[in-house]
Amino acid sequence: MKCAGRPAAAGLSDEVSARLDTIQIAGESPAQGAFPLILTLDMHGVPHRWISWQHACYYYAKDQVAWSLGERAFTVHGGLNRVTGERSRISAASIIAIKGKAMAMKSFGQVPPLNNRELFHRDRQMCAYCGGMFTTSRLTRDHINPFSRGGKDTWMNVVTACRSCNEKKSDRTPETARMELIYLPYVPNRAEYLILTNRRILADQMEFLAQHVPAQSRLHHKSAQ
Ligand SMILES: [Zn+2]
Repeated sequence: MKCAGRPAAAGLSDEVSARLDTIQIAGESPAQGAFPLILTLDMHGVPHRWISWQHACYYYAKDQVAWSLGERAFTVHGGLNRVTGERSRISAASIIAIKGKAMAMKSFGQVPPLNNRELFHRDRQMCAYCGGMFTTSRLTRDHINPFSRGGKDTWMNVVTACRSCNEKKSDRTPETARMELIYLPYVPNRAEYLILTNRRILADQMEFLAQHVPAQSRLHHKSAQ
């Protein structure tokens, strides 16, 4: 909520800033949370992060949007300009490049945080031992080299496993347990991580991010089977 409630952003009257409440996206109800997130890039076009529509308005109002991509745009209507009588509005694209330092250059190379949600998504909800597909509640994070044997909690040492396979494997390595991995772990890059963390990606955003995902990623396969 960095934009909507903030008065006197450059280019916006107080009235407009206070009234960024009439939102129109074709075919969607204006309920809070119904709007897709906006993908930001750095000046070089490197994916950076997801932001809310309010945050996107803030960048537009501050004239910090260098250029934009994407077919899908939304428009935020503000109040009437007292002088011209025209209604203020901001139109935003689904992908925007933000002016300033190349902030994404650093973060792009960083290892994204490890969470079960993104891990299960990386592994397409498939158990690495039996190959079964499961709902999230029936999945676990398996440490290939177990914690008790010095295994680390990192993307490269974890796979998705169903509860029964995890129990069967117990505190053993796959070799000792004679449970072969049917796929290998990997560290998602920034673009893939952005895909994994957002369940409502617009088609043009997905198309853009997919170009930055390494060819060996499982995201390029419709099914891991
Ligand atoms: Zn299993």
